[in-house]
Amino acid sequence: MKRSYIREILDSINENTISFAGGLPNKKLFPLKQIKQVSLKVLENPDSLQYSQSQGLEKLREEIANIYTNKFNFKTNKEEILITTGSQQAFDIILKAFTRDEIIVQSPSYVGAIGAFKALKLKINSFEKINQLKNTLKQSNILYLMSDFQNPNTRSYTKKERITIEQILKTKSSILIEDGAYSFLSFDGNISQAISSNYNNSFHLGTFSKIIAPGLRVGWIRAKKENIQKILFAKEALDLHTSTLNQMIICEYLNTYNLEKHLKIIREDYYKRMIFLSKCFKKFMPYFNFELPKGGMFIYGKFKNIDTMNLAKRMQKFNIAFVPATVFYHDERRSNEARFNFTNLSYRQMLVGIKKIAKFIEKI
Ligand code: PMP
Repeated sequence: MKRSYIREILDSINENTISFAGGLPNKKLFPLKQIKQVSLKVLENPDSLQYSQSQGLEKLREEIANIYTNKFNFKTNKEEILITTGSQQAFDIILKAFTRDEIIVQSPSYVGAIGAFKALKLKINSFEKINQLKNTLKQSNILYLMSDFQNPNTRSYTKKERITIEQILKTKSSILIEDGAYSFLSFDGNISQAISSNYNNSFHLGTFSKIIAPGLRVGWIRAKKENIQKILFAKEALDLHTSTLNQMIICEYLNTYNLEKHLKIIREDYYKRMIFLSKCFKKFMPYFNFELPKGGMFIYGKFKNIDTMNLAKRMQKFNIAFVPATVFYHDERRSNEARFNFTNLSYRQMLVGIKKIAKFIEKI
């Protein structure tokens, strides 16, 4: 089993590397003081270090259910939530409980999901345009997609596209895994209606990684109660439950502070960074073609005739990292697309990094 190229890049990064590679949130925006304060409070209760329910703490499930009902316009109760150790764990939990012939993914798709599906030895197929989905998807399949600010290509489905996908799902009765990792990170603060809210045989994934802190490893699965009951055994088998302490910290944070206020800070900061990086591209690499993202953490674009895997490997020697799109395709096809993260570098590093890549390209 090959390791993910992104993990390899992250491992090779040192303090001198300018890395556009990972999907790391900006640590300066972590609510460090607030987390410290609520952690101390939580630690006054010895239950914070005790074993707890596999489905997750009831209070936290209630908080998440309220977020769905009030912010996602997706009526949800606490029995419909299962807390996971990062949303990455959701892939293992769901796919161990629901085995299917084939999993259908967007092309390109989230590399961590592709890695999880390959580790589970699933057959993977992909679709690019929605009209291809009609022919590709079968009843015996699972469909995995991101409706909002897709990783890597940052696109979101329109209302019309969501309805088309919902209709296709309804004719095939396949299982839907809808990953909402970036759903909160729209620059305009709006949250779109999840496809899952109109399709019952679905698992909607969420995470606090991009909006509070990834190191706490707290994510969740939202599904109808019957399906949550069906996947619980797989969660239990993996790790009994997600860290009680971390769940209590998140829960106390949500109770004490205003998440919406924190989200506003993140959205505004990321928007400015995205605009800055896009200007660097326009100035120094006008031949790199991309759409301005409306949310998320990446700029994804296309060179005319550059194999980005080759370029990424060569740039690594100059201590610059970005992700060549080959890794986002389940068949690892050659690609001239690439993904650049803008959330984690300083403005100066972004400028220096893009200038250096441009200079290198001019010489080849
Ligand atoms: N889904 C997507 C689309 C992601 O980009 C990520 C993280 N990069 C995850 C899931 C997993 O995140 P976590 O396990 O930290 O919740």
